[in-house]
Amino acid sequence: MPLSQARRRKTIGLKVAIFGGTFDPIHNAHLRVAREAADRLQLDRVLLVPSANPPHKPSGTTTPYEDRFRMVALACACDPRFEPSRLEDGQGKSYSIDTIERVKAQVGPTDELYFLIGADAFAEIGSWHRSADVLHAVEFVVVSRPGYAYPIPPGAKVIGLETLALVISSSEIRRKLDSGEPVEELPDPVLGYIREHGLYQ
Ligand code: ATP
Ligand code: MG
Repeated sequence: MPLSQARRRKTIGLKVAIFGGTFDPIHNAHLRVAREAADRLQLDRVLLVPSANPPHKPSGTTTPYEDRFRMVALACACDPRFEPSRLEDGQGKSYSIDTIERVKAQVGPTDELYFLIGADAFAEIGSWHRSADVLHAVEFVVVSRPGYAYPIPPGAKVIGLETLALVISSSEIRRKLDSGEPVEELPDPVLGYIREHGLYQ
């Protein structure tokens, strides 16, 4: 259901989280993270936003955007609160501040906006494009990830979720797919898409 339609069903504001990533490919830990945040914060909607051109990865090294988006869309079918978003589609670099500003322009004054992120990514936030603006623009939900600690920058609004310790990563999954090892950390429709399109070989 689009955000505008969902809002009409509630008299109070919606709680919406942006969850960005390369999602190359989306895996079960991404979905656990999104579900945990949605349950704990009673979110109405988690927007899963694949980055077309992640600023921190060399260009041309990621799987085509369209494949990553379609895998995200397949994975989102597991929970009605999850919505695949094309907000970072396009040729330019995908900067979170632009995404946050676009979502802010769409949500209503009583809606609450969060930015869902893993501990590893939040630890790097000081290096992001317009990081000070990002930190002031939105409240963060930072999810624990084994092996990663993070400082909380002064003034940042952070809700820490420390209940998950999932060792799954897309890089490890890509390695396993490439070497023909079995992969158990992917939703079935995503693994099906990968096999059908011969990705990660
Ligand atoms: P890669 O190994 O290619 O970097 P990844 O598994 O880290 O892939 P990303 O697409 O880079 O996945 O991450 C998207 C978001 O999901 C980031 O905020 C990241 O911190 C978070 N995330 C990914 N995997 C986990 C995990 N196992 N536990 C907690 N957060 C995670
Ligand atoms: Mg990563």
